[in-house]
Amino acid sequence: MEDMLKEKQEIANFEIMEQPSTIINSPFERFKLKVRLSVDFIYVAMKYLKNPVKAAKVIKILKDKYTTVYGEPLLSKVSKVDGRYYWKYSMPGFPSLAAQESRATQINRLFPFRKSKGLGILLMGITKKCPLSCEHCYEWDRMHAKEKLSTDDLVHIMHKYQDYGTPQIQLGGGEPMLRVDAIYEMLDKAKKGTDFWITTSGWNLNDETAQKLKAKGLTGVMVSLDSHIPEEHDAFRGRKGTFEIVMSAVMSAKKANLVTGICICPTRAYTNEENIKAYMELAKKLGVTFVQVFEPKPAGRYAGKDILLEKWQLEILEKFYLDYNQLPEYKEYPIINYIGYHQRRTGCFGSGDFYFYIDTDGDAHKCPLCSSKICNTLAFSAEDTINLLQQTQGCNYFAQSAPYAEELEIILD
Ligand code: SF4
Repeated sequence: MEDMLKEKQEIANFEIMEQPSTIINSPFERFKLKVRLSVDFIYVAMKYLKNPVKAAKVIKILKDKYTTVYGEPLLSKVSKVDGRYYWKYSMPGFPSLAAQESRATQINRLFPFRKSKGLGILLMGITKKCPLSCEHCYEWDRMHAKEKLSTDDLVHIMHKYQDYGTPQIQLGGGEPMLRVDAIYEMLDKAKKGTDFWITTSGWNLNDETAQKLKAKGLTGVMVSLDSHIPEEHDAFRGRKGTFEIVMSAVMSAKKANLVTGICICPTRAYTNEENIKAYMELAKKLGVTFVQVFEPKPAGRYAGKDILLEKWQLEILEKFYLDYNQLPEYKEYPIINYIGYHQRRTGCFGSGDFYFYIDTDGDAHKCPLCSSKICNTLAFSAEDTINLLQQTQGCNYFAQSAPYAEELEIILD
């Protein structure tokens, strides 16, 4: 491991050159995309509902819902990687089978046409190993023990939730890239219709692994970067040299044509206008598609600690989110994803409604931060697991979002 760290540091010890942006700015291309997306929406709605009135209704509801949840119109900022379009980290690239599966799930929740409710995203922790000791780690209590899930177990769980209807699976850890052979096998055995992402510290993500992952069908990587200042990022991650590892990993991922994002846990000490602006400058320079904002919560290693952001800091983050995604002067910057923004307005989508988390023991949790084991996903069917999750009290930090069926009643009233 030390050798790898040294090698990574040597590779990354260079001035970062401005990388090409993936954001599309051609009005004609955006117009074409809008037309294609509308046609795709109509095709999927008609395929399952076979009723033009219901199809028109469902399309309008979903478009309105998007604006309410994200606080911005559909396609306000779009990127293109390897021929597919991306506008939200939580949504599969378009066009794809996964994107159609995602729409079918949304439609099914409003006007049920099949038994399985389906998920939006499944988060899976695939290893207890990690070379870092991040101050916010939510897997901390389960780390550094013997692995409980074999590669066959991981494949079994993956297939179970693909059959249930899951258009996006995010593989995390521990550090998932320490189990890259298991990821290769999962990707080899995955069925069509799901986008796969890896959430990583950047460890072991180099030209070779990135290209192999891409060849096996990986969609993208979300690399954690918690400060634009190398020393601060390293301190947060508990290991010197990790900033350079991130820089190098992002370059390798982009070179391999993977969709690439960086994820920040903005701490109370870091969150001010100057720092977030500098962070976005670095994100632009790196040419990443997404910046994911993941607010600190008193869970895992942060449990019992006074780490929640102040109100003025949340306001800064929300302003950045809205401005950078919509104002013309920021059109070249990456797309910001900010889960806290949506959750404060529409409630939490965890607990098996839109997503849930399977830890490194195979146990189901409402989400990575609301950690309380509900049942083991190897022993229980997907349907039973989701039903059990939905009987829990929901998120510890946000109200639960209204189920789609309830929303529909409100909309149709
Ligand atoms: S947060 Fe992730 S990278 Fe950091 S110690 Fe925990 S598992 Fe490792």
